[in-house]
Amino acid sequence: MRENDFDNLLKLLSMPAPVPADAWRGLLAETDSGQRAQLAHLAQEVAQKHFGKGVYVRALIEISSYCRNNCNYCGLRCGNVLAQRYRLSKEEILECCRMAAALGFNTFVLQGGEDPQMSDEWLADVVAAIRAEFPTKAITLSVGERSMASYSLLRSAGADRYLLRHETANEMHYSQLHPHSMDVYNRRRCLVDLKALGFQVGSGMMVGSPGQTVEHLVEDLIFLDRLQPQMIGIGPFVPAAGTPFADERPGSVDSTLLLISLLRLRFPHALIPATTALATLCDDGTERAVLAGANVVMPNFTPMLYRGKYSIYDNKKCSGSESAQGLKILSDRLDKIGYHIDFSRGDYYKG
Ligand code: SAH
Repeated sequence: MRENDFDNLLKLLSMPAPVPADAWRGLLAETDSGQRAQLAHLAQEVAQKHFGKGVYVRALIEISSYCRNNCNYCGLRCGNVLAQRYRLSKEEILECCRMAAALGFNTFVLQGGEDPQMSDEWLADVVAAIRAEFPTKAITLSVGERSMASYSLLRSAGADRYLLRHETANEMHYSQLHPHSMDVYNRRRCLVDLKALGFQVGSGMMVGSPGQTVEHLVEDLIFLDRLQPQMIGIGPFVPAAGTPFADERPGSVDSTLLLISLLRLRFPHALIPATTALATLCDDGTERAVLAGANVVMPNFTPMLYRGKYSIYDNKKCSGSESAQGLKILSDRLDKIGYHIDFSRGDYYKG
């Protein structure tokens, strides 16, 4: 794309008005490698302006691999006979939180499939127990679509944040990725409810999921512009054994990095993780994501006994930072690119 056009598109990213589809399309599909490097550089500057050279860490606890849904991409889908199932007890979850707290973590993320046994009462009780033991720490949930009443109960029990990716904003594409029992509207309803309840909300999409086009990504970006989430998680699609997409090609690392940079430029204050999916596809995925504008890493605290069983996709990496030694490795890696771990809660803050 011509330099002039590129500069004009860049300006649109920092304007209050919604970024038009044409502009997103140009930035996604017509930029050359030099311009992409420029986007990453600018994104890094914006991230540093707001977060310094700190990268927030969140302790990820994968609480259940049971799921009622049958999403075509996900290894936890109920129809996957290869999937191994487990569910952590309340005490096991608390134990993970204690380990993370002892290492200095200030955010716990409880993620799981839509486990039918995970009742509102049980989950609210777990959240309340964490809240009682750790009054000042942030509790993030990521357990899929639930009712407004359920979200409300969880919020009252002490949950602060909720991650629920929209996966794809295009209705047709959504139905290619999901079973008939799910639709794009309920997903959006959930996100709206969560926001209304005062959760800090995270959304996002997979990059390079089967059937995805540039137009779909444009719709995703427009959707995020409207939703204004506090957190945005994106990662490449990675095939999972035992799913209908087992033999599909993984998403592109470069496209994921480009999207991270565009999101950083458009959402300067957003909390954007360097995702495990990206680290799974390339060894230095975490570093590259940070250098493209990401500012969050989520080390895995799921007990070793269960860790291999939360297999949403194949060869899932886990930065084993549950030990002081593992954390040192992460901190050394960040140090090499001039960054450091920031252990504070890392709430969304728009100055
Ligand atoms: N049940 C929860 C958590 C799902 S797992 C929920 O619905 O939010 C968290 C995220 O992993 C999903 O939102 C999805 O974007 C991502 N994911 C699932 N399968 C994947 C795959 N095969 N490749 C890459 N990412 C995947």
